[in-house]
Amino acid sequence: MKHLKLTSLNGAGRTTVRVGSVAFGTDFVVIAGPCSVESEEQTLQTAHAVREAGANMLRGGVFKPRTSPYAFQGLGLQGLKILARAREETGLPIVTEVLDTRDVSWVSEYADMLQVGARNMQNFSLLKEVGKSSRPVLLKRGMHSTIEEWLSAAEYVLAEGNPNVVLCERGIRTFETYTRNTLDLNSVPAAKELTHLPVITDPSHGCGRVNLIPTMALASVAAGADGMMIEVHCKPEEALSDKDQALTPDVFSVMMRKVRSLSRYMQELA
Ligand code: PEP
Ligand code: MN
Repeated sequence: MKHLKLTSLNGAGRTTVRVGSVAFGTDFVVIAGPCSVESEEQTLQTAHAVREAGANMLRGGVFKPRTSPYAFQGLGLQGLKILARAREETGLPIVTEVLDTRDVSWVSEYADMLQVGARNMQNFSLLKEVGKSSRPVLLKRGMHSTIEEWLSAAEYVLAEGNPNVVLCERGIRTFETYTRNTLDLNSVPAAKELTHLPVITDPSHGCGRVNLIPTMALASVAAGADGMMIEVHCKPEEALSDKDQALTPDVFSVMMRKVRSLSRYMQELA
């Protein structure tokens, strides 16, 4: 892939992307939290529960890219303030999605890491804007994007001067309808072979079904991922978005013990 200049591995060694004390590419990083920030109570409760279970970072959307304009769109600034409070209480750095170029700079005042979502992976204006930011970027793979297009999107961010990009495989659309998406685990070793950037997975959006998530999380570790993002909700049945893929803190906690243990074993094998 000739046009990958700054992201290409080139034998120079792997990049570590730091978000506070969290080191993607060095440590196995687990990001967990609700799909959406819905209220202070819901977010703080979930934040404490995921930290208890051993998560390294907190996630939560405050601008939600919903298929329907009538679905919950997120709390915006109020949600960012709730996330900041959760960080204060738990010490977990926060990552949140930014949808609009106009929001990058002020959202960066609250968030430790900016997420570019699957639907915006080829929003080149947004990629350039986060490329000018000093915040690390979590770049989801578009659900219709090839590996090459995904890596080219990362190249946009680096080309603007921001070297801190973490790639996230979140599943692609295939003919399969049983699962929400098809988590393309091929892309993990592929992206690690082609670039020096850390690569994580998002089994929650990748399968969209609670029962499959812990298994696909373990498969991600075996595929060589540098971490993962998992949606957790204390009352999944009441979630305002993505309720079918929200793990309860109990299920998350059991999954985490297995993930940590397999990750240690993978390190021994390396
Ligand atoms: C999310 O992380 O909640 C999200 C909307 O992800 P994606 O962009 O991968 O659909
Ligand atoms: Mn979600």
